[in-house]
Amino acid sequence: MNAPRYAVVGNPVAHSLSPDIHAAFARETGLAVDYRRIVAPVDGFASSVDAFFADGGRGVNVTVPFKLEACAYCGDRISPRARRAGAVNFIAHETDGAHGDNTDGIGLVTDLARLAGGIGARLSGSRILLVGAGGAARGVLGPLLDAKPQSLCVVGRDRSKVDALIADTPAEGRGFDEIGTMHFDLVINATSASLSGDRLSLPSPIFEDAAIAYDMMYAAAPTSFMVDASAGGTRRVADGLGMLVEQAAESFFLWRGVRPQTGSVIAMLRARLADAR
Ligand code: NDP
Repeated sequence: MNAPRYAVVGNPVAHSLSPDIHAAFARETGLAVDYRRIVAPVDGFASSVDAFFADGGRGVNVTVPFKLEACAYCGDRISPRARRAGAVNFIAHETDGAHGDNTDGIGLVTDLARLAGGIGARLSGSRILLVGAGGAARGVLGPLLDAKPQSLCVVGRDRSKVDALIADTPAEGRGFDEIGTMHFDLVINATSASLSGDRLSLPSPIFEDAAIAYDMMYAAAPTSFMVDASAGGTRRVADGLGMLVEQAAESFFLWRGVRPQTGSVIAMLRARLADAR
């Protein structure tokens, strides 16, 4: 019997590690998976996914720039966490149509909980700073609030986007010029600044008390955000590789009903990134 077929859909998508991650999960669980990359034309997300499903595909992960479109594609058949995020990165093709979910938030919170546990810290009761108000921030805000922090502050350079993000939530919004004297236990970079090598102009006090500074971007070398956080006194810095693997594990679980181990997969990808330097 042929392995069930899945794919990650994006543009660009050649860089995606998702096929490697799902292949590792398949080896570890003994559940065969055929997981590929699909590069969809910028104006052709729905037709690309339609064609994949018509050809027997069972599900897709969705990456840049299609997460909002994927939400619309699934219509009413989206999970509460995807509805809250307004973005879908997971679709299961069922007999009654496409069902959307968002696994980014649980991926981040699972990785943060692992990191926090490793240094005796906790998410609950912590003061969290979330930097950025784009798609990734939308996906993680709700699950971070579910972890019951003492406070959650969102900072962004476009105040209208920050205000739209935090509307109807207990989070507070700030501009970069309004956080100069604030202290946090956890600082999360959800901007794409590291992707373009930009340095965020974050005041150093925000890092002084922090147990963890987390850059959602991942790379072979520490990002400038991680470097600044270490220099500012943060105890532990991390990039988003663990989040990527954890969101994939949640996808695998939703599709296959088995939750794969993630530690060895994170270690394998970390070693591969280091080798590629
Ligand atoms: P978006 O383009 O949707 O949002 C980017 C955000 O970054 C916007 O708020 C933007 O502000 C802000 N920004 C960009 N450059 C700067 C800068 N120099 N200073 C201040 N703010 C800046 O991207 P995503 O939200 O989809 O992705 C954000 C990051 O998260 C990326 O690095 C991505 O790789 C990572 N990511 C990681 C995942 C993982 O599994 N590890 C999953 C998803 C995302 P403005 O709106 O004003 O332009």
